[in-house]
Amino acid sequence: MTGAALIDTHCHLDAAEFDADRPAVAERAARAGVARIVVPAVERANFGAVASICREYPACVPAYGIHPMYVDRARDEDLAALERSLDEGEPVAVGEIGLDFFAEPRDEARQVRWFAAQLEIARARNLPVLLHVRRAVDAVLRELRRIRVPGGIAHAFNGSRQQADAFLGLGFRLGFGGAMTFDRATRLRELAATLPLSAIVLETDAPDIPPAWIGRGRNEPAELPRIAAALAGLRGLPADEVIAATADNVRAVLPGLA
Ligand SMILES: [Zn+2]
Repeated sequence: MTGAALIDTHCHLDAAEFDADRPAVAERAARAGVARIVVPAVERANFGAVASICREYPACVPAYGIHPMYVDRARDEDLAALERSLDEGEPVAVGEIGLDFFAEPRDEARQVRWFAAQLEIARARNLPVLLHVRRAVDAVLRELRRIRVPGGIAHAFNGSRQQADAFLGLGFRLGFGGAMTFDRATRLRELAATLPLSAIVLETDAPDIPPAWIGRGRNEPAELPRIAAALAGLRGLPADEVIAATADNVRAVLPGLA
């Protein structure tokens, strides 16, 4: 992997799964050629951990947001805390935000209110957003059409080609990672193979979404070269070309990363 720089656009390096060996995980990622790692927060309680990891590991850059699965326990004043973290922390995006209409229990109306409030915050700061979207693509698109932000990334994208095109039309790129490494993921692999390469960015979502070769184990950012190679294989392209093109896509959609 010489030459091209890999960018993991979604990695929860602050997660408890990495508490025992975080320096080794970061070291393996660096050796694997992962030059930048975007670390999105999920709730106010981990804003500080995300900030300190990004100070400690130079490859890491933060995003701050309240994830839809955490809005149940979020309080109104957390939005002010979010704004403080965004103002102080040199974030590349607002995230991880979005809608999750799969998790139980859930309050969909509350999720939409928190998502909309955070889109307004992103718009006011001219920041892109990192989206978590599960069983809620059309509802997310509806909010994005109402509250225009300067694009971002639909992380772990798993929708239709029509939905992909809708995100692209709104200035978004689509995050692909471990899920496309499974042979049975036929629709997702078809998308990974046929979407314009300019639509795609790479991610691990570590410690989650382990690629096929890990089984049920912990995912980590050092897996990104193999994930890139899987995408290259699906598209019939050299891995270096896919890595360079997807890195350009990240820099276009997350200008703060430069
Ligand atoms: Zn995430």
